Amino acid sequence: MIYLDYTADTPVDERVLQKFTETAREQFANPNSAHSEGRASKAVIDNVLSDIAKLLGIQPNELIFTSGASEANNLAVKGLAVTNRRKGKHIISTFLEHSSVSGALTFLQEQGYEIDLVNILPDGKIDLDNLRSLLRPDTILCAVCAVDSELGTIQPTAAIAEILKDHPDCRLHIDATQAIGKIPFSFAGADTVSFAPHKFYGLKGCGVLYKRDGCVLEPLIHGGASTTIYRSGTPDTAAIAALSTALGIAASEQQKRYDYVKTLNERVRAELMKMPKIRINSPADAVPHILNISVSGIKGEQMREFMDERGICISVKSACSVPNTPSRPVFAVSHDRKNALSSWRLSLSHLTTKYELEVFLEALEHIIREKL
Ligand code: PLP
Repeated sequence: MIYLDYTADTPVDERVLQKFTETAREQFANPNSAHSEGRASKAVIDNVLSDIAKLLGIQPNELIFTSGASEANNLAVKGLAVTNRRKGKHIISTFLEHSSVSGALTFLQEQGYEIDLVNILPDGKIDLDNLRSLLRPDTILCAVCAVDSELGTIQPTAAIAEILKDHPDCRLHIDATQAIGKIPFSFAGADTVSFAPHKFYGLKGCGVLYKRDGCVLEPLIHGGASTTIYRSGTPDTAAIAALSTALGIAASEQQKRYDYVKTLNERVRAELMKMPKIRINSPADAVPHILNISVSGIKGEQMREFMDERGICISVKSACSVPNTPSRPVFAVSHDRKNALSSWRLSLSHLTTKYELEVFLEALEHIIREKL
């Protein structure tokens, strides 16, 4: 099996797994308990929190642990909307968002909030002039991804934060799930930021919401204080410790991994240029881990099946999206429904071998020759 869907999920690093099992075995007590074992668990969490905060360049009290990035996105988007509803009910977002952001926004729309989606330029970046023109005195939230999961476009989050300085009632939520662990990311100017370690060789079932100190939001889960009042429930000491290990490895290996993945991406792009009927939807300056491709005349879902028959895992849109509908991000950059329906995603890792890529390229050539 050749796995080329590292944007959806990554295999857990053995060192992360070891940290998890060690901590789960040794620190089973509830960190919210006042007895000595509980205090020992709490001390582990406090140490780990300060390690994570140092790695990210933030404060330990700005970290909220969740079950994944979907929960972190829901907590930020709904929590900020509810808390700020008296200031306004207008929200700005993009066509590039993961369903955990766009779905939360649809929910809010049904509750009477007004949602505007900012235009996307042909290079996949959000149109900053359009953003400026959409901002209103009652805009309370701007929710954007740092890197989108389908095209891999890197958004100008610093420029967005700069624009929002003139709108002090508008909070900025950044979904950094496809950025953190892969490329440098700055929290400056953001009110909330979501991410999850299973995207960088950590464990599933764990996610993080950074919430700027002083920023207030309504929790999703009510009842009982925990390490934070913003997410009650027993904190998973082992998962938090494992997250710290995954983040530490990702930070120290980031440049080396990035450079290698970039060489893989360049190799695939060069070969794709030689093939007929191919369109590369990812912009040239997207993260090299994500390559969105269309073969005109073959639907994305069919391509995934043809590849699967050959033992190769690729993806159509993000794993959580609705099947048999055109990709919203691909449509936003190409304005071409057929192209959006034909699109699929190849995602690369430092674990991808050059041999695996050659097998993939050969399979693609065969499929195009056979099916068109
Ligand atoms: N946001 C982005 C950009 C993603 O790519 C994903 C997962 O694919 C998520 C959010 C949701 O992450 P999780 O599966 O941890 O809930």
